[in-house]
Amino acid sequence: MTSEHRFPQPQDAAQVPRYAGLPTFMRLPMADPARLGEVDIGLIGVPWDAGTTNRAGARHGPREVRNQSSLMRKVHHVSRIAPYDLARVADLGDVALPPMDLMLGLDLIDAFYRRVHAAGVRPLSVGGDHLVTLPVFRGIARGAAVGMVHFDAHSDTNDSYFGGQRYTHGTPFRRAVEEGLLDPKRTVQIGVRGSVYDPADLDFAKAVGIRVIQMEEVAARSDDDLLAEARAIVGEAPTYISFDVDCLDPCYAPGTGTPEIGGMSTLQAQHLVRGLQGLNLIGADVVEVSPPFDVGGVTALVGATMAFELLCLLADAHARLGRLPAARSAP
Ligand code: MN
Ligand code: MN
Repeated sequence: MTSEHRFPQPQDAAQVPRYAGLPTFMRLPMADPARLGEVDIGLIGVPWDAGTTNRAGARHGPREVRNQSSLMRKVHHVSRIAPYDLARVADLGDVALPPMDLMLGLDLIDAFYRRVHAAGVRPLSVGGDHLVTLPVFRGIARGAAVGMVHFDAHSDTNDSYFGGQRYTHGTPFRRAVEEGLLDPKRTVQIGVRGSVYDPADLDFAKAVGIRVIQMEEVAARSDDDLLAEARAIVGEAPTYISFDVDCLDPCYAPGTGTPEIGGMSTLQAQHLVRGLQGLNLIGADVVEVSPPFDVGGVTALVGATMAFELLCLLADAHARLGRLPAARSAP
């Protein structure tokens, strides 16, 4: 770190090589979660896959994404956004979670994010399976439903699994709509594909007004056209971006629990996320990186790189809009 910087910087790769030192997110300083007033954007690990219905392993995501994130540099090569010059960014560590008690895990994540949000911090989370996003919403959207741009091969709006289990990584956004945390009319899902359990699987999403853009439509339209529609749907009100790595073709992201072929490339995903600059962003996440299924760390590298893309958007939002108004959340 050099003295001309106003804000905390990643460890200087000219002083300590990238393979050395403790692997925090982006090689940033760790922040004390009790001193959130000193942080504008908090990178948070949520090592938890209690919602996974089939191939578990996303609990190991944050550690491997931290490791691969040591490859990230400081300035975006296209937008030229320099997030560490726009905002105070820090690694807030992992939410401490038991691996097996699902309902306790939901409450612990909710409580952690409620503190983060109440302090005015924009969270950038790394999961964990996609059920993680539900308690994040409980923490940051209570009393004020958010909009969402959701990249995923799956709608994650099923009702239940295994005879009535309502909390899984296939159900978070149905619960979020039911709980008034997510505004379905300000929600767009991009990249949905793959075989379904039943022809009616997407009926709930469509009935409540979620715009589902299946992968075939993504492939048939230009990125600029898709972005114009997505931006119009979420508008200028508070919005969250959730990035499930299985939106990508498994050739780009094999390390995930529910791969679906026929997905988008990393280049297209970067272009689409980058095109969301300028929204009223209150948080974002990257989920479903599952290191036990990964090959040479490539999916964790994708997770780290997409987290950097999202970090640039959040830093830009902070520079334009300031810290989150803490009063957004009802008690
Ligand atoms: Mn998902
Ligand atoms: Mn998915």
